[in-house]
Amino acid sequence: AAKGGGRGQYRFYSSELKDGAKFRRMLEEDLRDALHKDELVMHYQPIVKAKDYKLSGFEALIRWDHPERGFVPPDVFISCAEDIGMISEIGEWALRKVCEQAQQWPVELRVAVNVSPTQFANDDFVAVVQRALQSSGLAPNRLELEITESVFAGDEEQTLKIFHALKDLGVRLALDDFGTGYSSMSYLRHAPFDKIKIDQSFVRGSTEEGNNNSAIISAIVSLARALKMETVAEGTETKDELELVIKRGASHIQGYIFSRPITHEEALERLDKGELVYEPRGPEKYRAE
Ligand code: C2E
Ligand code: MG
Ligand code: MG
Ligand code: MG
Repeated sequence: AAKGGGRGQYRFYSSELKDGAKFRRMLEEDLRDALHKDELVMHYQPIVKAKDYKLSGFEALIRWDHPERGFVPPDVFISCAEDIGMISEIGEWALRKVCEQAQQWPVELRVAVNVSPTQFANDDFVAVVQRALQSSGLAPNRLELEITESVFAGDEEQTLKIFHALKDLGVRLALDDFGTGYSSMSYLRHAPFDKIKIDQSFVRGSTEEGNNNSAIISAIVSLARALKMETVAEGTETKDELELVIKRGASHIQGYIFSRPITHEEALERLDKGELVYEPRGPEKYRAE
C-alpha cells in the first residue's frame, strides 16, 4: 500500500522499482544533487495524547520532492543515501531543519527526528545534535530522537555511552519500530529511553481475529509502564484500532485516524489557529486522500 505524501505516483513507482538496479543508479545520481538543489523537505505527523486527543508533538518525516518523479518516499531513498555515503549529511541537514522549523512554532511542542544507525554510529553524532540545538535555540527537551533496535547490533557499551551523552544534552530518546528488529530485551535494562513506539505492524490487524497483535500491544505497554516509559501506537488507521490501542493502555497515538504527515506550513497554520485537539476521522475521509 502507498504511504505518506503520495500523489498517485506510487503505481508508476513500484513498477519501476521492480526493474531494480538501473532505476536505483538513476536515483542515486539525482540524490547527490538533491540537497543543494533544495529538493528535500520535512513533513510533520501529529502525535496525540490518548487521554484527550490533544497534540503532544510531531514526528518529522523526510520527503524528496523530485522534479520529475514527484515525492520519492524515504523507504526508497534513505537506503540509496546509505549506499552512496550521504546518509549522515542528509541526517544532519534534517536535524538542523527540524530544529529551526520547530523553533518557529507558536506552541512549545515536542518534535521527533529519525536517526539512521549509520548516522548514530558516527563519532561526531552527539556534537551534531548539540550544534543543531545551539544554532536553532530549540530547548533540548523539545527534541526527541527516534532510534531503532538495530543500533544495539553494534557495541552495546559504546551505544549506551552515546545514549547517556545525549540524555546529558537534555534531549529525549524514543525506541522506534519496537518489536520488529534485534530481538533481545537486555538492552532495555540500561538504555535511558523516554518512549517506546509500538510498530505499526502490531497495530494493523490488531482488531482481527487469528493473530496475537492485541496481546503483544498489551505486553509492550506493561513493559513500558514498568520502565516508566511512554508508548506510541504507530500507524493507527481505524476507529476500531484506536479503541483497541487505548484499551490496551497506549499513552500516545499516531496515525491516519488523526492525520497524515503535513507540511511545515500546514502545521504552522494549525498551531496559529490554536487547533490543538484532534478528532478521529472517518475511514472514508482518510482513504479519499
Ligand atoms: P517510521 O519512523 O516508523 O515512520 C512512520 C511511517 O509510517 C511514516 O512513513 C508515516 O508516514 C507512516 N504512517 C504514519 N501513520 C500511518 C498510518 O496510519 N498508516 C500507514 N499505512 N502509515 C502510516 P514515511 O514517512 O514513508 O517514513 C518511512 C520510514 O522512513 C520511517 O519509518 C523512517 O524509518 C524513515 N525516515 C523518515 N524520515 C526520516 C529521516 O529524516 N531520517 C531517517 N534516517 N529516516 C527517516
Ligand atoms: Mg520514526
Ligand atoms: Mg516507526
Ligand atoms: Mg518504520
